[in-house]
Amino acid sequence: MVAASIGVVGVAVVLLTGFGGRGTVRGVADISEMVFAAGAAATAGWRAYNTRGRLRLSWAALAGGCGGWALGEGVWSWYELVVGRATPFPSLADLGFLLFPVGASVALALRATRVSTGDRRRSLLDSLTVTASLTVVSWTTALGAVADARDNSLFSFVVSMGYPALDLAVLTLLVIVLSRSTSTRVGLVLVGLGIAAIALADSAFAYLTATGTYETGVIADLGWVVGFALLMLAPVFAHPAPEDGADVASHVAPSRLPYVPVVLALTVVVSGLVQGRTPDLVVTSLAGLTVALVLLRQYSFMCENAQLVTTLSEREEQLRHQAFHDALTGLANRALFQDRVMHALDLHRRDMRSLAVLFCDLDDFKLVNDTLGHQVGDELLVRVAERLRGALRSGDTLARLGGDEFAVLLEDGGDPWSVARQVVDVMASSFTAGGRALAVHASVGLTVVEREAPTPTAATVLAQADTAMYAAKRTGKGCFRAFEPGMELTEVRDESLRRRLSSALAQGRISLVYQPIMDMTDGVLLGFEALARWKENGQDVPPDVFVPGAERTGLIGALTELVLDQVCAQVAAWDRAGVRRDFTVAMNVSPRTVVDRAFPDQVMAALRRHGVPAGRLVLEITESGLLTDLDAAHDVTRRLDAHGIGLSLDDFGTGYSSLTHLSRIPLRSLKIDQAFVEGLDRDERQSRFTDALLRFGANLGLEVIAEGVERVEQLDRLRQLGCDRGQGFLLGRPAPALAWDALLAGSAASAVPRPRSEAPATTSPET
Ligand code: C2E
Ligand code: CA
Ligand code: CA
Repeated sequence: MVAASIGVVGVAVVLLTGFGGRGTVRGVADISEMVFAAGAAATAGWRAYNTRGRLRLSWAALAGGCGGWALGEGVWSWYELVVGRATPFPSLADLGFLLFPVGASVALALRATRVSTGDRRRSLLDSLTVTASLTVVSWTTALGAVADARDNSLFSFVVSMGYPALDLAVLTLLVIVLSRSTSTRVGLVLVGLGIAAIALADSAFAYLTATGTYETGVIADLGWVVGFALLMLAPVFAHPAPEDGADVASHVAPSRLPYVPVVLALTVVVSGLVQGRTPDLVVTSLAGLTVALVLLRQYSFMCENAQLVTTLSEREEQLRHQAFHDALTGLANRALFQDRVMHALDLHRRDMRSLAVLFCDLDDFKLVNDTLGHQVGDELLVRVAERLRGALRSGDTLARLGGDEFAVLLEDGGDPWSVARQVVDVMASSFTAGGRALAVHASVGLTVVEREAPTPTAATVLAQADTAMYAAKRTGKGCFRAFEPGMELTEVRDESLRRRLSSALAQGRISLVYQPIMDMTDGVLLGFEALARWKENGQDVPPDVFVPGAERTGLIGALTELVLDQVCAQVAAWDRAGVRRDFTVAMNVSPRTVVDRAFPDQVMAALRRHGVPAGRLVLEITESGLLTDLDAAHDVTRRLDAHGIGLSLDDFGTGYSSLTHLSRIPLRSLKIDQAFVEGLDRDERQSRFTDALLRFGANLGLEVIAEGVERVEQLDRLRQLGCDRGQGFLLGRPAPALAWDALLAGSAASAVPRPRSEAPATTSPET
């Protein structure tokens, strides 16, 4: 590159200063032009060799053009430098020279960016504009002069016209290719500049030859030197292009480049006029054509813009629809629904128009999704949307708020209750999705804003509909509830529960009752299960309510701690007073606690604090707890077991045990849930089921305890099946520790009376 620049500068100096006299100048010009042209042919050829696709052909064409020109220059130099006389015109040299514009045109045409159909018309207009205006320039200068000087043979005329005409084509193509190029590529720009310089020099040559003033070494020769030097460098800078070579522009940015020749033409014509030359017919008509083309281009632009504006506004409309509608069902989405509710509330405030909002939630949707897959779930939602739409009037707004939750805004009077019932009714029959019939019910909640009522906020209305819907869900599947002021959201209730329960825990107002676990063969007491009790304002809050509540509100840890402490204190007290120390006391541990890695230490600390041996304590855990984090559950239970604390699996048979999981937990006993004891003596099928559960426990070497033993028949059947351990109202109701003191203190009471006849004797104050 440096060598090429030095060469170009050197040649320029010689040409401009005439250094060394005419002979030297001619020699330097001829030789350097030949060298640079040959160099350009070589680098372009090298590039073609290394490239693939359309670009390879483009480079090859350029190499051919440059090579042809170098050969022409060779012939020319032969005459001038070796033979020592002026090169005749036309000669073999001209054939070589004219190969260049041909090769360059092909090279450029192969680089032209393909345009989309929409841009084709403008591209054509651009090409015509460039052609017309460049022709004006050429006609005013080289082409016109050559045409005027037709004193030679037709052949020499054609050859001399060939130069400016082909240059015109090359320059036109160049402008078009550059104006369509989406990115500025150094290689392409260098090629363009090189070709332009050569074309200008060619045209100057033609003009000077036509006017009989050409001589090797004139400044025009510099155009060839510089041009070929640039072409020689271009392949070196060109980036390896993608496979196809030409980039496809989907929408070519309108380029201003086609206007450059127009300005050029204008300048030439105006400067001609200034100098007093009247333009001939060719120039006048071409100039007229150029103006017409420019106007047409502008017009086509305006049309395109109008089209663009239409497309954009259509797209905007589409986006707006997307923003406010659910893609799956096409129903309004939450945003649009809220907007409509707000609008309806405005009308209520202004015109006292009543409104109602209905929430509708599918009852078993999650199950469908989980078992049949999302595709079936989606299909079901679409079916539900269709059916709901069918149940509504045209003025009602139906929306999908997300998931399986639908909402309806009822605005134009009518009876919202009958609409709600209608919705429940249409949902009652089964749906077809994924090729099967699915029975899906909906829980429907309704809230009505009456005409005379003060206008509530949108948030309030939606929250009320939601509350009513949840109340319906709690009532049962496929139910409908209307909102009433007493209804509160679960969260609100939980908040109140959390406050009351936490003060009850802090003040120790949670107490324990103990229910005996017995050996059903001889009525010997095996142990107790401690159960939590909470009396609030003289009323029992059932553990089924406050235990799950404590779990939801984060109070379960405090509850467990309190029960643990009371149980240990009670065992210590019984041990101090009584004679029997061979029974266990079981307490319930919530699922969350089983995966709490700090729990074993907490238990050990409580036992130590009260001086209770670890073997006296049994922890009842449920399967759901074991499944949440199996590794943690395994770790916690393993450590508890290592300390000698007993672990019992509670409510066995009701969970979704994975037997592999269970095998990793060091259990001591199983408690067969009361559901398997209930119909044991009446239903043969159930009895077989219970038998299987009992065998399962026995095979694992676990103690099996039957829960909820209420009748003698149940007890008999259990014993027949080989189950000796039991717990239930028949054997003893849960009662405060005090009720069991006498039993444990007296030496005679080493066994509780035979349950069959005496169970009522142990009846606790609870009954
Ligand atoms: P659970 O662990 O299955 O406790 C046995 C439940 O069955 C107790 O209900 C008990 O009163 C009842 N029951 C006992 N014998 C019979 C019978 O013959 N027939 C019938 N129908 N029921 C009988 P309770 O005390 O209402 O406790 C309910 C549940 O609350 C317990 O079920 C347990 O899961 C939980 N719970 C109770 N206390 C605590 C506690 O201190 N901590 C934890 N985490 N949960 C507790
Ligand atoms: Ca239990
Ligand atoms: Ca149980």
